[in-house]
Amino acid sequence: MSSSKTNASAKSDPQDSNAENNDEEKDELCPGFKDVDAFVKYGLGAVLSATKASAGLPQTGDDYDFYRSFPGFQEFCESQGDKLLQCMSQIMQHHGCRSHVRDQSKLTGLEERFDLVVDSNDVILERAGILLDEADGLNRSQQPVMPAGFQTPKIVVSSWNRKGSGSGSRSETFRLLHAKNVARPQLKFKEKVDNSNTPFTPKIFIKPNAIKPLPSYFTDKQIQKERPEDLDVPAALADFIHQQRTQKHVEDMFAHPYQYELDHLTTPESLLSKQEPQMYKPITETKCSFIDTLEDLVALNEKLCRLTEFAVDLEHHSYRSFLGLTCLMQISTRDEDFIIDTLELRGEMYILNEAFTDPSIVKVFHGSDSDIDWLQRDFGVYVVNLFDTHQASRALNLARHSLDHLLKHFCNVDSDKRYQLADWRIRPLPDEMVQYARTDTHYLLYIYDCVRAQLLDFNHGQPGLLQSVWNKSKDISLKKYVKPIFTEESYLELQRKQKKSFNTQQLTAFRLLFAWRNKLARQEDESTGYVLPTHMMIKISEELPKEPQGIIACCNPVPPVVRQQINELHLLVQQAREMPLLKAEIAAQKNKGLTPIKKSEVTLFGPHDTSRVSESDLPQFSPNELPVKKGMLFSEDEHKMDEDDQSTCGLMASAKITLFEELETKNDQESLSAAHVKARRIIESFENPFRMYLPTSDVHISKNAKFDPSSKIFEISKRWKLQSIEQQQKELEAKRKDKEEAREHAKKVKEERNKEKQSYQESLAKVVTVRQQAAESGKSGGKKRERVASEVGQSTPRPTKKLMKSAEKTEKTEKPQQDVFTPFDYSQSDLKVFADPKSKDNTQFDPNRQSHDYKKKRTPKGQKSNFGPGNRSMSYLTGRSERGFRHNWPKR
Ligand code: AMP
Ligand code: MN
Ligand code: ZN
Repeated sequence: MSSSKTNASAKSDPQDSNAENNDEEKDELCPGFKDVDAFVKYGLGAVLSATKASAGLPQTGDDYDFYRSFPGFQEFCESQGDKLLQCMSQIMQHHGCRSHVRDQSKLTGLEERFDLVVDSNDVILERAGILLDEADGLNRSQQPVMPAGFQTPKIVVSSWNRKGSGSGSRSETFRLLHAKNVARPQLKFKEKVDNSNTPFTPKIFIKPNAIKPLPSYFTDKQIQKERPEDLDVPAALADFIHQQRTQKHVEDMFAHPYQYELDHLTTPESLLSKQEPQMYKPITETKCSFIDTLEDLVALNEKLCRLTEFAVDLEHHSYRSFLGLTCLMQISTRDEDFIIDTLELRGEMYILNEAFTDPSIVKVFHGSDSDIDWLQRDFGVYVVNLFDTHQASRALNLARHSLDHLLKHFCNVDSDKRYQLADWRIRPLPDEMVQYARTDTHYLLYIYDCVRAQLLDFNHGQPGLLQSVWNKSKDISLKKYVKPIFTEESYLELQRKQKKSFNTQQLTAFRLLFAWRNKLARQEDESTGYVLPTHMMIKISEELPKEPQGIIACCNPVPPVVRQQINELHLLVQQAREMPLLKAEIAAQKNKGLTPIKKSEVTLFGPHDTSRVSESDLPQFSPNELPVKKGMLFSEDEHKMDEDDQSTCGLMASAKITLFEELETKNDQESLSAAHVKARRIIESFENPFRMYLPTSDVHISKNAKFDPSSKIFEISKRWKLQSIEQQQKELEAKRKDKEEAREHAKKVKEERNKEKQSYQESLAKVVTVRQQAAESGKSGGKKRERVASEVGQSTPRPTKKLMKSAEKTEKTEKPQQDVFTPFDYSQSDLKVFADPKSKDNTQFDPNRQSHDYKKKRTPKGQKSNFGPGNRSMSYLTGRSERGFRHNWPKR
């Protein structure tokens, strides 16, 4: 087979491959040909004849072996084969693919060669697709735009975004940069990103400018971080203790830390009266400082605290991270610009809270909605006394409300928003990007002056309109960051947005793929769009490919995670294909012209419900010979019935008495296909431990349920723990294997993986029943619980980390943490599962509940007078104050 394949194209002229090769090179396009068409015609002809010739070659098992016994034939094959391999190798090299197709020593056989060819084909086809789209003027790539000066390996020059000549003085060339070339900043973060499917709680632990002190939940590390795992009690009891400890803090946990201060913020007279706009300094005469050390950041904070206003903007990256990363903060005063490397100073940014929450300092933003979220999410920074020029622009009814427009309108500055979508993670930051970033804030204070004056003029000197902008800005600063939470309905939201109508199978595929990509994205800390773009997810759901290759074909370019997990995806699609279709859907499918009617998801599916039958179960019959089948009462007879299906099929589904049967028996596990098991596992891993706090929740959990081995909640809890242990073991295994891999041969690795997968699947099949688990836990009840289980994969930092920080800082030479991202561990977050139903009402967390609830509750009118410059305080806690004052930053 090996040589037959090689010989297959032996008769084709090696020049063909070279010609193809030339096709890729733009400079010497089609030498020797009149135009591209002539070249394509020639190329096609050559490929066609090569294909014909290869089809004419003797096949293995045919006469091939006979021919091969002639030395002449053998020699010819070998020399031609060698030539061909050389050609292929050249083409692969040209495209930057692994190319040792010819090198016998590096390969074990045909299979690997074939893989190499397939991979290279994918790369070449992807590239051709991209180029074709570019030629069409489409920007199909979501890759970030990079400045021309930035040097990086593997740059693809793009033309779609090249600007027409004569606009602006800056370089007009753009390049696309593959984001994979940028080091992942997450690896350097001291505090790992928390991608768990649990609601966000504020990062704050000291509260400068506090009128109302920070709740003990944030200051008391006992409650916040420590889990009572050290206690010599069973796991379930430990959870219960923790839950009891945090229960009374639920309201604080999800409140805005500066709610009280913002509620009592009043706009002083001076900010509501007319003032002459103060002209900005020319950008060329303005000092610009890049801040990437703690010392500089502290100094900047000092400087800001002495001002009455400053302008702020942030740059953000969202493609290679699940929640997104704030990469840069720009601050402009009347005299200076500052660019803060927030990737470097992520863990220290909180010190700016001193200036940012000082009510006597105005913070000017343009379009601050996202900025407010990002500040909270990444740094625990809040803004008190915000002015948003975007809100001003709206109130003024300007033609457009973008910053570009305001810059043009008030400063006659042509801004260049081309870098807005650049990859802001890049370090060192290219000069073009620094320049771009500073223009975002440099003129903002002047614009703030202008819009204030106009807002007053607009309203004949009355402050009403201006006040409304202050109020709108305050509302934005009161916003709380909400983490994206995966629920079982999340996929429907996206489906609705996409306005797609799916049949039952397609919708199932969509749901499974949606859950899969969400899980993978959290685990790998990538955006869902990076794992599997929505349009590809829709394509796969629509087409339900039977083969893994079909899934690949739905994706162009194929996302790396999809390629890695193609078997997993294939199983999910298979699982969807096994779903019974609605009668109407089958009919629609038969009348190909019609689109299937989408019915709302019916989750209850009884055996008496004949509206759903599997496609394959549906007998083909003509209307005049309606088949008849006797209904049967007992399920044991079902098999017999299936056997004579063809002769006596009548009812779409057989009747069956299921009254005394449990819907989900243990045997289910065995009858499930691997796809079912996988799908179930993915869905189950999303059992949200905070579900009881979510608005749609209708779960009733009794206090004793967690101790009752027959209860669902007990089972869920156990499963989480089992899964996490299993996961850790897999991780340990994987780490060990990584080392060996380097030395081992490629094929061996492949075998290993297969084995691993098999044994894993076997272990899945052997999932212990609840009762077995209970018995086991009873046996080991006397033993002290192992802590390892909960330590690995911990998503929240240990408090000791923070205390150790000052010591750590003095030896700054310490290596940044290089350990790989550890997947979030759901067993860490099950603390809220076992709540007392009686206390449920008052502690129920409702993410949809607006801050106004708190407002009403916590705004005693008499306290309003409290707010004054003399009354401000810092509520630092003794244990942690050293962190903030290490550098003697202001005690005011
Ligand atoms: P800006 O406030 O305009 O500087 O934008 C801040 C960040 O928002 C940028 O760094 C981008 O990450 C993101 N962003 C702004 N505009 C867009 C857009 N049109 N599409 C996607 N992301 C954007
Ligand atoms: Mn912005
Ligand atoms: Zn910006």
